[in-house]
Amino acid sequence: MLNVAAGFAGFPFTRFTDRETLEKVASGLRGRGLNAIELSFSKCRLYVNSKSQGLMYPSLAQAEEAKVIFEGTTIGIHAPYTLVISSSSSKTRRLAKAHFTMNFKLGKVLLANHLTFHCGPTRKDAESNVKDFLKEIMKVREEQGYVTMPAPEVAGKKGSFAGFETIVRVAGEVGCLICWDIAHDYARGGLITMKEGILRRLELLDDHIQMKGHRVPIHISGVVATKRGEKKHAPLMMGGVPWTFFLSVLREQNYLGKVILLCESKTDGGIKGRLEEAESIIRFLQSNEEVSSYGDKTRIDGFFM
Ligand SMILES: [Zn+2]
Repeated sequence: MLNVAAGFAGFPFTRFTDRETLEKVASGLRGRGLNAIELSFSKCRLYVNSKSQGLMYPSLAQAEEAKVIFEGTTIGIHAPYTLVISSSSSKTRRLAKAHFTMNFKLGKVLLANHLTFHCGPTRKDAESNVKDFLKEIMKVREEQGYVTMPAPEVAGKKGSFAGFETIVRVAGEVGCLICWDIAHDYARGGLITMKEGILRRLELLDDHIQMKGHRVPIHISGVVATKRGEKKHAPLMMGGVPWTFFLSVLREQNYLGKVILLCESKTDGGIKGRLEEAESIIRFLQSNEEVSSYGDKTRIDGFFM
C-alpha cells in the first residue's frame, strides 16, 4: 500500500454549501480511492451587506458537520484570493489578519492540515512585509492553540510573491509550511522539467521546512501560461506540466508520505470532472509506470498565448 494522501483542491465551501453536496464529494472521493480535499473559502467575505451578492464563510456548525462527513479524509483549506500580505498598508493587513483568524477558527474545527493562501503582488518591501505578517500570524496561532499550519503558495504569475526558493526560505524562517503548486512553478520557468531541479527542491524543503506533524500541500494541474507566467489552470494533460515525471521522482525518493497531492485542474465536468482528474493522479501512482525524464513536446515555450 502506498502511503499517499491524494484528492482535489478548490472545492468551494460557503454559507450556502449544502450537506448533500458535501456528502456527494466525500463519497465520490472514497469511491475512487482518494483521501484528501482542500476546501476553498476563495470567494468568502467577512462582511456582506444586504444588497451584495457576496458569500459568507461557512458557520462553525457547518464546519463541524463537514468534519464528520469527510471522516478519514485529510482536509486542507484555502483562504480568499482577495487577501494580500505583501502590502504595507495597515488597512490591507488588518483585513488579512481578520481573514486569517476566521480561517484558523474553521481550520481548528475541521482539524485542517494546512491553510493555503497567496501572498499578493511583488512590490517594494514585499519580502519583509510577508515575513512580518507571517511572524505575527504564527504568534496568534500559537497563543490561541490553532492547529492549522499556514502554507503560502508558490505564485504562478511572475509579478506575484514569490517563486519556490523565496517562498521556502521565508516559510523556513517563520516556521510554517509552503503550498507547492507545480503548475505555477513550471509556468514561472522553475526547473521542474529536470530531475536535478526536482531533487534540489526536495532538498530545500528538507533543509528549511519543519513538518511538525503536517504534510506539505502540493497542487497539481495543467496550465495555460504566457511570458508573465501562469494565466489559468487547465486539465492535467494541457500545457506540458511534467506531473507524471514529478510524481515518479516523488515516489522514487520516498517522498509521498510527506505531502498531500491535490489536483487543481480546471475542468468543465463539475464535481465528477474534478474527481476524475484527481483519480488520474492516484492511478498513475498505483501503476508501475515510471517516467524517467521529461519529454513533452508541448513544453511551455510552445504554449505562449
Ligand atoms: Zn494552486
